[in-house]
Amino acid sequence: MTGTAVVWFRRDLRVRDQPTFLAAADAAPRALALFVLDDALLAPSGAARETFLYRNLRTLDDALGGRLLVVRGDPADTVPRVAAAVGAATVHVAADFGPYGARRDDAVGTALAADGRELVRTGSPYAVAPGRVRKADGEPFRVFTPFRRAWLAHGWRAPARTDASTVTWLDPAGSGRGLRAVRIPDDVAVDAELPAAGEDAALGRWTGFLDASMRGYAARRDRPDLPGTSRLSPYLKFGLVHPRTLLADLAGRRGEAADRFRTELCWREFHADVLHHRPESARENHDRAFDALPLASGATARRAFDAWRDGRTGYPIVDAGMRQLREQAWLHNRVRMIVASFLVKDLHLPWWWGARHFMGLLVDGDLASNQHGWQWTAGSGTDAAPYFRIFNPVAQGERYDPDGDYVRRFVPELRDVPGKAVHQPWRLPGGVPSGYPDRIVDHAEERQVALEGFQRVKAARR
Ligand code: FAD
Repeated sequence: MTGTAVVWFRRDLRVRDQPTFLAAADAAPRALALFVLDDALLAPSGAARETFLYRNLRTLDDALGGRLLVVRGDPADTVPRVAAAVGAATVHVAADFGPYGARRDDAVGTALAADGRELVRTGSPYAVAPGRVRKADGEPFRVFTPFRRAWLAHGWRAPARTDASTVTWLDPAGSGRGLRAVRIPDDVAVDAELPAAGEDAALGRWTGFLDASMRGYAARRDRPDLPGTSRLSPYLKFGLVHPRTLLADLAGRRGEAADRFRTELCWREFHADVLHHRPESARENHDRAFDALPLASGATARRAFDAWRDGRTGYPIVDAGMRQLREQAWLHNRVRMIVASFLVKDLHLPWWWGARHFMGLLVDGDLASNQHGWQWTAGSGTDAAPYFRIFNPVAQGERYDPDGDYVRRFVPELRDVPGKAVHQPWRLPGGVPSGYPDRIVDHAEERQVALEGFQRVKAARR
């Protein structure tokens, strides 16, 4: 075995459970660690994800003894150039199944091959790679529950036993001309509080969650007023921890909580699978009958969107959610569903307006989970979320934030309203507290409009 390999990091900014390290160590006695700042991904990522990325690159660089080479440019140019500069025959990556990532990797693979080098894909950001689990007839699953059954039956590999010392890292500073290293950029200004960066922070959060909260997960995961979920999504997004590691730690655990957590991880894999088979569903209705749904437009639609975006709809649980999103660059799953339902079914706005706003702010923004989370809520997605299920924002608030603590935390205008009365400020004896807006729509009326709209969808199916 001679020469050098390249390990190109993308959505896997960790050193533990890294199958690419094993593949690189098999291929060559030493490897160069590479990250490419790609403007095609950075431009739409939003300040929270951009800053979180830079912080995680710094902790990765520390873990690699300062040997992470960072370059900027189009990977189809930069990766072959770096591989040529260090004389690497192979470039090792975890396969990317997103629409852009898959295209980019094909272009990089072709450019490398033209120069007699190879892009080697080992593993992916998922426990089971998208496209692997299929129906008996070879077709992809369209419904979650049978996908989950097949995914569980398929199973996954044990975590790879790796750390920073699995590979002997080449020092980019001493590796000659042509590398064109850049500094990891400084943080960009971001108003939201971000989670602690780094692989150790991710694993610390996971073990803390296992010790303190896993037992109550099934009962508490729908309550935004309680710290009942793992908040691992930003770490999974950037691969600071691999789902395989989480699933291995859950392996010995029985019971509703562990089952439920596995199921949530499976949703992440299902959405990636659907997007892999139907990349166009990132932008258009997965169920094309929904193209017939009448949508609001013009200045009224813009005004309604602005009120939603700014957390000023007059529906407290919706407003609390939109303000949490801004303050924390993260939002509880139940509240993501409530605010998404409100945008689509009360304001009759296109789901993709909301999805784009989410992607601009979320620190865990992930194309597959976000676009399909939106489509699922809108009813245009894969699963059997019946179109007539229209969340009532008051009932949702009273059920999942029963004492109103969540609303009071994020909506200061309502801080003096006690208990669950906070979910209907228009019923307070003194009226809506000063500074808080009146409801921009009447839910009961808009529900009717949504139901009538869905009749058009039904008709389009015939
Ligand atoms: P936990 O309850 O602790 O779950 C553990 C992990 O399971 C999560 O970190 C996540 O990776 C996965 N998971 C849980 N629920 C879902 C779900 N419904 N779909 C897919 N994966 C899930 N998740 C993202 O990671 N990025 C997004 O951009 C995103 N956008 C969404 C948009 C909408 C409209 C909706 C309804 C959901 C979206 N989700 C997204 C899914 C879900 O809301 C978040 O994954 C979850 O809230 C993250 O919090 P947690 O880590 O504490 O979750």
